[in-house]
Amino acid sequence: LGGMWPRAHKPVEPVGTGFFNAYQNYVDSNENIDLYLETTAKEFIVEDGKVVGVIAEGKTGNKITLYANKGVVLATGGFGKNVEMRQEYNTLWANLDESIKSTNHAGATGDGIIMAEAIGAELVQMGNIQLLPMGDPETGSLSGNIEMGVENRIFVNDEGNRFVDEGARRDVMTNALFDQPNAHMWVILDSHDYPTGDEVNNFNESINQLVADGRAFKGETLEELAEQIGVNPENLVKAVEGFNAHVADKSADEFGRTLYQDPINQGPYYAGARVPTVHHTMGGVKINTDAQVINTAGEIIPGLYAAGEVVGGIHGANRLGGNALTDTVVFGRIAGSSAAAAK
Ligand SMILES: Cc1cc2nc3c(=O)[nH]c(=O)nc-3n(C[C@H](O)[C@H](O)[C@H](O)COP(=O)(O)OP(=O)(O)OC[C@H]3O[C@@H](n4cnc5c(N)ncnc54)[C@H](O)[C@@H]3O)c2cc1C
Repeated sequence: LGGMWPRAHKPVEPVGTGFFNAYQNYVDSNENIDLYLETTAKEFIVEDGKVVGVIAEGKTGNKITLYANKGVVLATGGFGKNVEMRQEYNTLWANLDESIKSTNHAGATGDGIIMAEAIGAELVQMGNIQLLPMGDPETGSLSGNIEMGVENRIFVNDEGNRFVDEGARRDVMTNALFDQPNAHMWVILDSHDYPTGDEVNNFNESINQLVADGRAFKGETLEELAEQIGVNPENLVKAVEGFNAHVADKSADEFGRTLYQDPINQGPYYAGARVPTVHHTMGGVKINTDAQVINTAGEIIPGLYAAGEVVGGIHGANRLGGNALTDTVVFGRIAGSSAAAAK
């Protein structure tokens, strides 16, 4: 979503478990690794200007003090779920209060950014917060998303009209969605993407299941689908016919779309509702190429390394899909290697 070409790779196992299983296997096969679950890091222990450990709180409120042999790697993720921080730093959007939900997990609280700032870390590009136009209207989650790729689906607003190049950047599509009635849209697809209806999305959900659960809608004709989702049938048919004409001759449409594969002409047809949702925070602590955290004076903070979404400045104002996981793996390895090599 939001890239010019199909370009991302993902593990075969769904919903991120491909990554977790690999890490869990490594942890299980190395008895020197201790995991502290349900333990919240609170602050760094700094001795003579060097980060040497972390003070944390266990499940029952018990204090846990941990000292590092070589260094501390900060990998606490972004702040997509911290509404206060979103409102404090947002520069790109009119409003990111609690009315805008998030795709993120509950732990995306920005804790690591706050902890690092407290010991002088420089924060960079904090205003760069990414939204997607693909949130579940109830939860903001990407679950329930009916798109199977970006080539075939169109977006229509509550009037049944298209309004944007569905192959555009994430920020362009989300801004266009904010301008629509109720900032609410429908993803429309046909059976090219769902030959059987049992094909699953990234959340392991099939369209048949989503329809049965009332989270997606199905019509044998476009008119029937329009009636189910309460949009003007004439507008929907016109939108689809206009789109199909461009698919046929591969010409740019009125929104500048050039990404096409199949026409939307093979029933049954499907629709799923979506709204803007906070997806990624590109700002965070500043690091150098060895993943060492940099302070506001431009100096290395000895003993402290960072990787992943807690870091700022890697992705600019508009992160490309696929690049965040690459970021975590590449800089995670660099941060770990740098810490292990520290004297
Ligand atoms: C629904 C969804 C789909 C995505 N799909 C893609 C994709 O297809 N490709 C891609 O490249 N990127 C994708 N991203 C983005 C990518 O998943 C994230 O940027 C990435 O997982 C961040 O990894 P991280 O390890 O830095 O942070 P996280 O995965 O957020 O992990 C940070 C961990 O630190 C914990 N933590 C936070 N504070 C504390 C504290 N004080 N003490 C202890 N622990 C703490 C959190 O609970 C969490 O477990 C997606 C994101 C979402 C939400």
